[in-house]
Amino acid sequence: MIITVKAAAKINLMLDILQKLNNGYHSLWMIMQSVDLYDVVTVEQLAKGIELTCSEPELPTDRKNIAYKAAEEFFKFCNIKGGAKIHIDKKIPFAAGMAGGSADAAAVIVALDKIYSTALSVKQFTKLGLKVGADVPFCIQGGTMLVQDIGGVLSPLPDLPDCYFVISKPEQSVSTAQAYGTFDECTKNSRCRHTDQSGMLRAIIDEDLSTVGKTLGNVFEQFVEVHERVPIKSVMRKYACLGCCMSGSGPTVFGIFDKKKNADACAKELKTFIKDTFVCKPINQGSEIKES
Ligand code: ATP
Repeated sequence: MIITVKAAAKINLMLDILQKLNNGYHSLWMIMQSVDLYDVVTVEQLAKGIELTCSEPELPTDRKNIAYKAAEEFFKFCNIKGGAKIHIDKKIPFAAGMAGGSADAAAVIVALDKIYSTALSVKQFTKLGLKVGADVPFCIQGGTMLVQDIGGVLSPLPDLPDCYFVISKPEQSVSTAQAYGTFDECTKNSRCRHTDQSGMLRAIIDEDLSTVGKTLGNVFEQFVEVHERVPIKSVMRKYACLGCCMSGSGPTVFGIFDKKKNADACAKELKTFIKDTFVCKPINQGSEIKES
C-alpha cells in the first residue's frame, strides 16, 4: 500500500511564551493557522526498516530527519514490527518558522496509521506527535487552533473569514533552539512585551479579520534579529495589509490581506528581493491523505 499525504505549513497568528518550565521546556500560548503551502509525503509499507529520500539535498535522510523519527516513534508507540519507505517532496521553506519538518512528521504518522490500520484516536495522535516534536500534534489536525502548554493542548477555533496571506521567507536561517536560548537569556534580567491573547481570541470568535490583523503578535520579534523584517513589513503595509508579523521563531514574515489583488501585487514586489514569497489561503486541515 502506498499513501500520499499533503503536509500543510503553518503560520503563527500569535506566539507567546508564558514561562520556562523546570524540565527546560517552555509553556506556550500560540494561535496556529494551517495554510495551503504543502510538502507532499509518500509512504509505502516495508517489511522492516525505514528508508527516507527527500527532494531537498540539504536535508538529512537518516534519523536526524524528523519524518524518520516519526516513523520510529510510530512503530514503538503502536508496538508494531514493520517498516516504511518515505519520500518527501519539499516545498515548504525549512528552518523558516513554518513547521515544515513537523508537517512531514505529522504526514508520516497519519500515513502509517492508515497503512497499519491502527485507527489512533485524537488523544493518541497527540501523545505520539508530542514525542516527535512540539508542533507535530497541531500539524496532524491543523486548521485554526489555540495551542498551549508544550504543544499538546489543542483547542479548535472558528475558521478565519476569507483572506489571503503573503508569506515571505528571507534567506537567513533561524534555529528554533537558538531562538528559545536567546529568549531565556534576554528575559533573565529584563522584562518582555507579551501579546494581546484575549484580544486575538475575541477577534477570531467575532470573525473580525481587521482586528485579527491589528492584534497579530509574536514574542520572538523583540529578540530574534531578522534583517529584512522592516522592509518586508513596509511593502506589506504599502499594499494595505491588515497586519503583519513574524511566524514561529522566524525569519518568515507574513501579512494578512482581505483583497486578492493587493496580496498578489504585494507578493510581486516582495519577490524582487525575496524569492521565497508565496500567496496562500488559510485551510482547515493539517495532514490530508490525497490518495492511497
Ligand atoms: P518550527 O516552526 O516548527 O520551529 P521550522 O520551520 O523553524 O519549524 P523546520 O523547517 O521544521 O523548522 O526545520 C528545522 C530544522 O530541522 C532544519 O534546519 C533541518 O535541518 C531539520 N529537519 C529535519 N527534518 C526535516 C524535514 N523533514 N523538513 C525540514 N527540516 C527538517
